[in-house]
Amino acid sequence: MENKNRGFQTSCIHSGEEWNKSGHLSPPICQSTAFEFPNTEEGARRAADIHADEFYGRWGSRNEREFEAIIAALEGAEDAVSTSSGLAAISMVFHALLQPGDHCVAVHNCYSESKILIEELCKQHSVELTMISSEDIENYRNAINPNTKLVYAETPANPTITLVDIQEVSRITKEQSDAIFVVDSTFATPYNQQPLKLGADIVLHSATKYIGGHSDVVAGVCAGNKDLMSKVRKAFSFHGPKLDPFAAWLLCRGVRTLGLRVQKHNENALKIATFLENHPMVNKVYYPFLKSHKQHDIAARQMTGGGGMVCFEVKAG
Ligand SMILES: *Cc1c(COP(=O)(O)O)cnc(C)c1O
Repeated sequence: MENKNRGFQTSCIHSGEEWNKSGHLSPPICQSTAFEFPNTEEGARRAADIHADEFYGRWGSRNEREFEAIIAALEGAEDAVSTSSGLAAISMVFHALLQPGDHCVAVHNCYSESKILIEELCKQHSVELTMISSEDIENYRNAINPNTKLVYAETPANPTITLVDIQEVSRITKEQSDAIFVVDSTFATPYNQQPLKLGADIVLHSATKYIGGHSDVVAGVCAGNKDLMSKVRKAFSFHGPKLDPFAAWLLCRGVRTLGLRVQKHNENALKIATFLENHPMVNKVYYPFLKSHKQHDIAARQMTGGGGMVCFEVKAG
């Protein structure tokens, strides 16, 4: 849970401590998949509590709960659900929120496997899908209708660094439907952008990237209010794309330095982008914090740094 008095770095370091009941500064890894209950009442209580960390392994261990609590704090969310990959997080959100006959609006200029997954999920579950380009906000306005149940955006987009104005799409979504607005914020990280504070309903990440930060764990996470996360957690508990407790432990360790790492990514990437922009062999550079980026105004409004990804075109192919 978010503590308003904490700065970002302090939240990285001290969130989730309530799940480490051991007194060990580095939390023990809980490999147990089954648990002893002191009495039947307590067993029944845990069985009814989808958050229980000591009921059954597929529901997740306290290592996962600790990681989820850190992400919830960093995103300003009530709750978070961790998954075994970024794509699994997308999949669980779609399973939790969409029924046959619903309409979904998503973007084709996003991480290519997210696009394939979304197309497959909608096809298999008879969800009507409108794929748009996120480059023009009017596309959202034209695509969202009263039957739309989920609106999807990725900002900055992988790999083109196209941005989506989160506040504006949230406003259009709420004006034209009851849909849940979902933002993949992987490239930004919670350090540079907090979509829930800009009107998104669910933020999700491939934690494989910056959140893990050490190229040694594949993971995903999504965050939002209690009600939405309970729906996602329910889908998750049946489908079972859970993190391994050691993977969760690695994520907790990785995320402790997220603020410091992303600060440095922001600095270095802006230097490289500026260098490339002035290079005679380079045609065009895409980086949200370059003044020449056509969406620089959106970046300045909703992000505190441009992140570590730079995209550029060389002259003569
Ligand atoms: C990598 C990535 C994903 C997929 O995450 P995995 O952890 O590889 O499943 C989704 N969205 C974005 C923006 C990504 O960069």
